[in-house]
Amino acid sequence: MKETTLAKPIEINGVGLHTGVDVNMKLRPAPENTGYIFVRTDLDDFEIPASVEYISHCSYATTLMRRGVVLSTCEHLLSALRGSGVDNCFIDLDNIEIPIMDGSSEDFVELISKTGVVEQNAPRRVFRVLERVSFEQGDRKMAIEPAENYEIDCVIDFPHPFIERQSLNFVFKNGSFGKEIASARTFGFTHEIEMLRKANLALGGSLDNAIVLTPDGMLNDTPLRFDDEFVRHKILDIIGDFALLGMPIQGKITAEKSGHSVHASLMSKLLKAEHAWEIIESTSVSVART
Ligand SMILES: [Zn+2]
Repeated sequence: MKETTLAKPIEINGVGLHTGVDVNMKLRPAPENTGYIFVRTDLDDFEIPASVEYISHCSYATTLMRRGVVLSTCEHLLSALRGSGVDNCFIDLDNIEIPIMDGSSEDFVELISKTGVVEQNAPRRVFRVLERVSFEQGDRKMAIEPAENYEIDCVIDFPHPFIERQSLNFVFKNGSFGKEIASARTFGFTHEIEMLRKANLALGGSLDNAIVLTPDGMLNDTPLRFDDEFVRHKILDIIGDFALLGMPIQGKITAEKSGHSVHASLMSKLLKAEHAWEIIESTSVSVART
């Protein structure tokens, strides 16, 4: 299997979920071994590679920072790129945050699939897990262990009639990301919104880009896209955050009540445990195509 990039550039305009800013984004083909690199075109093309070492904070979204330059809410786009089997891509932005679109990765995945993904010459590298590494914080638990493919086992538990306990096992196979995960939207609770806005977060949030839950129902009048849309979105976030490892993963992730900061903690623990993984050239491991 070879590395891939986009066949042509893709232009996207939208609003940032947390900052509310309007942003123009352009996804561009990139050479082999580039990975994903964000380029702040408003700041002299300053580059921020999508890498664990640049994670700065991750309370409600994953934010990267390099030399004081910030890039917010990268997880849904990275999930779409990883899920579409794109290895190398430049992401030009003229503002601080990735557009939220409809709160899922569906628009990105459709645009990527319409544009096309092309093979390059270098063999695709894969991050292969050799030993189990786990991280716990109270009742939040996450682990990664050896497996044949890239697989995620996820459980969430929220005291809300639409959610309660949801669990799902997701295995990357041809097309599985696009069908099972990409369209699951982000969600929030009305009781959080005031607190978020006071913290200058969710300023671009609306019923067009999030499921907003009231204590016993939801504000959106369009139906859920899946009965278990919430756990599917959590898997979308995990794939997006773990894309910061820089290549497809061969391993199984188990997550219970995880969130962006738990994802970040497990990734840095994993990277420090150098005996627990290796980088190999891809043979037959399934790394997703939509
Ligand atoms: Zn999300």
